Amino acid sequence: MAFATINKAPKTQGPSPRLANYEAVRRDFSWAQARQQLTGLPDGGLNIGFEAVDRHVIAGQGQKLALRWLGKDGHAEDFTYADLRLATNRFANLLAGLGVLRGERVFTLLGRQPALYIAALGTLKAGCVFSPLFSAFGPEPIETRMTKGDGRVLVTTEALYRKKVAPVRDRLPGLAHVLLVGERTAQAPAGSLDLGKALAGSSADFDVAPTRPEDMALLHFTSGTTGKPKGAIHVHEAVVAHHVTGQFALDLHSDDVFWCTADPGWVTGTSYGIIAPLTNGTTMIVDEAEFDAARWFGILQDQKVSVWYTAPTAIRMLMKLGPNPTQGYDLSRLRFMASVGEPLNPEAVVWSVGAFGRPFHDNWWQTETGGIMIANYAAMDIKPGSMGRPLPGVEAAILRRLPDGHVEQIETAGTVGELALKPGWPSMFRGYLDDEARYRKCFADGWYLSGDLANRDADGYFWFVGRSDDVIKSAGHLIGPFEVESALMEHAAVAEAAVIGIPDPMAGEIVKAFVVLKAGRQASDALRKELLGHARLRLGPVVAPRDIEIKESLPKTRSGKIMRRLLKARELGLPEGDLSTLESDTK
Ligand code: ATP
Ligand code: MG
Repeated sequence: MAFATINKAPKTQGPSPRLANYEAVRRDFSWAQARQQLTGLPDGGLNIGFEAVDRHVIAGQGQKLALRWLGKDGHAEDFTYADLRLATNRFANLLAGLGVLRGERVFTLLGRQPALYIAALGTLKAGCVFSPLFSAFGPEPIETRMTKGDGRVLVTTEALYRKKVAPVRDRLPGLAHVLLVGERTAQAPAGSLDLGKALAGSSADFDVAPTRPEDMALLHFTSGTTGKPKGAIHVHEAVVAHHVTGQFALDLHSDDVFWCTADPGWVTGTSYGIIAPLTNGTTMIVDEAEFDAARWFGILQDQKVSVWYTAPTAIRMLMKLGPNPTQGYDLSRLRFMASVGEPLNPEAVVWSVGAFGRPFHDNWWQTETGGIMIANYAAMDIKPGSMGRPLPGVEAAILRRLPDGHVEQIETAGTVGELALKPGWPSMFRGYLDDEARYRKCFADGWYLSGDLANRDADGYFWFVGRSDDVIKSAGHLIGPFEVESALMEHAAVAEAAVIGIPDPMAGEIVKAFVVLKAGRQASDALRKELLGHARLRLGPVVAPRDIEIKESLPKTRSGKIMRRLLKARELGLPEGDLSTLESDTK
């Protein structure tokens, strides 16, 4: 079934959509000019924390609500831009007082609580490097990342420290300061500081460090979906991309209430869960709690969220609730919804139009790109299943790797190749930590090669096929898991699907699918056969899975991505590899 194009939403109330004139903006765009939207520091300096917070206070917007934090227990806390400025100044002064130098790394191991946001922005203002860890990481992943990243400061809670850091503390000789959020008991680690008290004792006046655009600002580890996570280095100049892509791809306007559901433990939660909403002067919502459909609809309604950025894994969970789960909620303020992290199945886009009265807008990027590169922007017609078009300032191409190490561009519409970008956008990563060789391998003939396979249609829309590691070669055909998974998702019983290739003496590889059923559907051999038949009808015998296994759940990263490599390793009895980002064991 081909999905019909969803024409851009008719104009309702609210601001006019960004990029209404895509071609003209793209033609006239330059990153140097985009930077003029920001203030900058004297002598060409640039600092993400300053642009996110101080700039607005200096411009007289200090009383505007910057961050509304919603605690798990129903308690909420508000921070104006002026409040954030003072709190982050105190944090920056605290670092300076401890002798932490510019360029040194400050790690956080915290749930989504206000201290995390203050630490992030205060660290940047101090000229130090911010590196967030998922609070659910165990001791090993924490040790690896902090050792690799040379963590000098760790901001965490006493409970998290005791459980996760204490067991590896003696393997972190570079860690000089532990700052504890919340109560610090008599059993607190020796030498640790009570962050609340230390902040109260620090001055609220601070001159933002005179960072240069090329100074390292952020250290983000990739999700570990395809292997061992890599540490991607980002610089202060990235803020230019965060800022304008927030406008282009998320349609941010300064009077928006914006909710990004991603945890700062991965790049979306920082680029678009902290930086872009603040540089754009919006009010951002932070929810401490984990996914819960009723809670989420309640937040969208009560906080009058106008722009919402979430991920396919959450959308698929909402889809399990049926065609109209938002009934009874007033979501009239919700203007724009976007998704990132994994391919968004066309079925999900079509479902969202029924459930919310507007479509989810898929966009594509990576930890390495630091910001959104390809998007379904507000003003464009959506072809369900497409990632959209490259944003202004982004040149994307489909490339073929040649045996001699060079690449050539594939111009023919619909032909699959590797998705590549022309370096030059400000949030481009500047290296993998301690892995220069791997970094260099990402480039050929002046292109950055993303490792994802895609094609481009005649209208310039990009279509995700699969990660190059996950693509299946069967009987001379290249099969992208996304297409097969999306076809399975069209069946009324299927909530989630993951597809892998299994070695086969005849075909090279054959397709095997794993599916999770919607609530209320029972696994049975009859249903399995029905799904096989559905896929065969929909995809044809070459592409359709040869085998389908019904599972209770699929292994996912903590950022919600399906780990196909783990399904494959388990299926074939191979080593499971790095599991540091595995959310829970779903064997
Ligand atoms: P690792 O590199 O450690 O294996 P990862 O690639 O999942 O992990 P991220 O940088 O968090 O780490 O994710 C970027 C990848 O996620 C992209 O390269 C792509 O494969 C996938 N992705 C993100 N957004 C989309 C999207 N809209 N459509 C399809 N795939 C997407
Ligand atoms: Mg990757």
